[in-house]
Order: sequence, then structure tokens, then C-alpha cells
Amino acid sequence: MQSLRGTKDILPNEIHIWQTIHKIAHNTLNIYNYEEIRTPIIENTELFQRSIGNFTDIVNKEMYSFHDQGKRHITLRPEGTASIARALITNKMYTEKPINRLWYLGPMFRYERPQKGRQRQFHQLGIECIGSDMPVADIEVIKLANEILQKIECKDQYSLEINSIGNLHEREIYKLDLVEYLKKYENELDKDSKNRMSKNPLRILDSKNLKTQEILKDAPKLKQYLNKTSLKHFETICEHLTYLNIKYKINNYLVRGLDYYNYTAFEIKTKNFNQQNTICGGGRYDNLIEQLGGPRIPAVGWAIGLERLILLMQKSISHRIQQDRIYIAIQNLYTIDILWDIIHVLQEYQLKFELDLSNNNLSKQIKRANQLKAEICFIIGENEINDKSITIKWLKTRTQQTIKLSNLRKYIKYLKRFHYLTKY
Ligand code: ATP
Ligand code: MG
Repeated sequence: MQSLRGTKDILPNEIHIWQTIHKIAHNTLNIYNYEEIRTPIIENTELFQRSIGNFTDIVNKEMYSFHDQGKRHITLRPEGTASIARALITNKMYTEKPINRLWYLGPMFRYERPQKGRQRQFHQLGIECIGSDMPVADIEVIKLANEILQKIECKDQYSLEINSIGNLHEREIYKLDLVEYLKKYENELDKDSKNRMSKNPLRILDSKNLKTQEILKDAPKLKQYLNKTSLKHFETICEHLTYLNIKYKINNYLVRGLDYYNYTAFEIKTKNFNQQNTICGGGRYDNLIEQLGGPRIPAVGWAIGLERLILLMQKSISHRIQQDRIYIAIQNLYTIDILWDIIHVLQEYQLKFELDLSNNNLSKQIKRANQLKAEICFIIGENEINDKSITIKWLKTRTQQTIKLSNLRKYIKYLKRFHYLTKY
């Protein structure tokens, strides 16, 4: 049996990377008062159509949608922001606090052609700062993305690109002029861009096609359509980023694939050139919550694709797997008291152990302990069972000694004092 195309098992030997990311995210974001939120994986299809937009790639071709037994239109979430906006409205979270700082980590689903860094079930870590239209909120979220990436040891392997895509009104006027300009070159545009002319012309700016890029060079620039407020918002962000020593590049062609953004749009890209080089995408979305039937609440956030991040980490981090544990080799698995008495003491001191369940002879069990690179092997043979003792064998040095079970606590305390044993 195979797993579905574009999905992957995360096996026990990889899980510590995921746990590390969760821990780093929690620690970093907690300090800035971001709280974790977990929303359902399934939502009404309409939620994504109304938020992400019907003419975007995600809604148009990438959604996992189905009818449930009650004939409801359901979609596996392709991203996190729409669900969070929905949760904010459903639970009236805005009535409790003027600002909701939230983060999430979980699987997302998009029907795309699987390739390196692109899966059909993938994971995003994301944050949303909901309730402020001040540029400092944008800076706070960008700074946090930067901090998390640094802690994950991706230093200098990525760069931040930022743009202002203005407000809805400014964009509408710009779109008209852009389309008018592009009409002259319609036949020279790539197929995708041609399709986008009527539906989503801004996305043409994002085209990877060289000919289209050439044509765009002389196209009207979105920046020229921004009014004072939009420009001020953007300039403030740039000034703060400079003060914070966060390097950025202004990319006038950066528009992002989702409809709900305004003002700030940014991406963090890895420096190694490959097709899937965007690890983080984000921006401001001041109209989304209102658009979904909530009050007018401005917000800003980002999402990091974790599979792509992990590809980077694997280059920079040496993954140490903690092997040290106490292996319990026991002659007779039907022995009741001594077995559980030992285990309870180890548990009490939070020492990691593994009980041999094979019922093989002792020498085979000790061999297994060596293969697993355990630190210590507790050997409980007939003699030990009879006089309630344990033979403790240090596998690296091959030294061993026998102690009374009643002295086990004292022995562990002694070892701990000299840091022979680590706590798990
Ligand atoms: P791309 O241009 O690579 O398709 P996107 O603009 O569709 O990315 P976003 O919707 O902004 O991506 O999602 C944020 C991040 O989630 C991306 O930067 C990427 O790291 C990750 N991501 C998006 N789609 C996938 C996928 N199919 N597989 C793995 N990671 C993904
Ligand atoms: Mg995409």
C-alpha cells in the first residue's frame, strides 16, 4: 500500500524536527503574547471562495472539495487565515480583546503537482495580528518571522522581499491601466497571463515567463497609484526594518496569490535558486473579516511552509537524536514485583527507559541494548530476581555492579548529582 500522491508520513526519526519547530514558535511567539489557536481542517467551501477569491489558483484549481453525506459543500483548508478570520467572527473573539494575536501550526491541503517542496498535504506555521491598522503591527509580524527563522538556524539563507499593493480603490484604478497597457501585447503574453487579463490581472506581475516579464518592464507601476496614506504606511515599515537591522528588498512586482491582501505584501525566499524558493508569505488584510460578515477589523499575518523550511534546516542543523536511555533486560517477563518496582523508580526520576519485550535470553537482550546505543543496561537475571537486586551495566565502558533494589533511588541520586543521567 502507498500513501496518497503528494502526502508523506512523518516518521519517528523526523518528528523531533517538528517538535523543535513547535517549541521555537511557541517560545518566540509567547513572549509577544501570541496565543495558539486550532481550527477545524474542514470548512464550508464558501469560506475560501469568499476570502481567497474565486479567480485565484488556490480556489480555481487547487482545492480539495467534496460533498458530505448531508450534501454540504466541504473543503479541506488550503491555508489558515480564512479559517482564523471565520473563528474570530464565530466566537466573537473581538468582543473580548481589541487585539487578538494568534498563531497556528497544522496541515493544509492543495491539489498541486507534487515535487520537491510542494506537496498536496503540507504544513504551515502562521501568525495573525488582528485589530490594528498601524504599520508597527506589520513590523511586529515581520520581525517575528525573522526571529523564528534565525532561531531555526536558517541564518543568511533567506531574504525578505516587500511591496505595497495599496488599497482596493488604488488597485482598481491601477488594474484598468495595467490591462489597457497589456492589451497591446496580448498575443505575446504567456497562456496563464492571458487568462488572468480579465480575471486577476495583478497576478500577471508575478509571472515567471521571461517574455511577459520583458513586456511588464514598461507597464505602469502600482507604486505610482498609491496615495499618501498608503505610501506613508509602507515607508514607516521600511524605516523600522532598517532600524531593526532586518535586511529587505523592495520588489515592485510582488503581489501574492490571494485576493484579500492590501497595503503590505511580503515574502521570504531562500537564496538557493529553485522553483519552490518561497518559504514565507504574508501581508495585511484589512477587509477580509468584514468581507466574511464580521465587523471591520484590520489585520496582518504570514504563513511559513514547514516542509520547505525543513529542507533548509537539514542543511544547517545536525539532527542529534537522543539515544541515551536505560535498557531493561530481564530473564523472566512473568516476574511481577521487581519489574514494576524498578520501572516506578525510573518514572519517578523521569529517566527514559526501554523494557525488552522479546523474552530472549539475557545475552541477546544485552546485545540489543548495545545495538540501540543505550547508555546503561539494567540486567535482571535469576539471581537478581531471587535477592531483589539489579546488575547495572554501563555499555560504553563495560563496567558493571550489582546493587540492591532498595538502593536504586540512592544510586540514581548519586548519578544525577554528577550529571551521569539526563532528565527527559
Ligand atoms: P507557491 O508560489 O510556491 O505556490 P503560494 O503563494 O501558493 O506558494 P502561500 O499560499 O503564500 O503559497 O503559502 C505560504 C507558504 O506555504 C509558501 O510560501 C510555501 O512555503 C508553503 N506552501 C504553499 N503551497 C505549498 C505546497 N503545495 N507544498 C508545500 N508548501 C507549500
Ligand atoms: Mg501556490
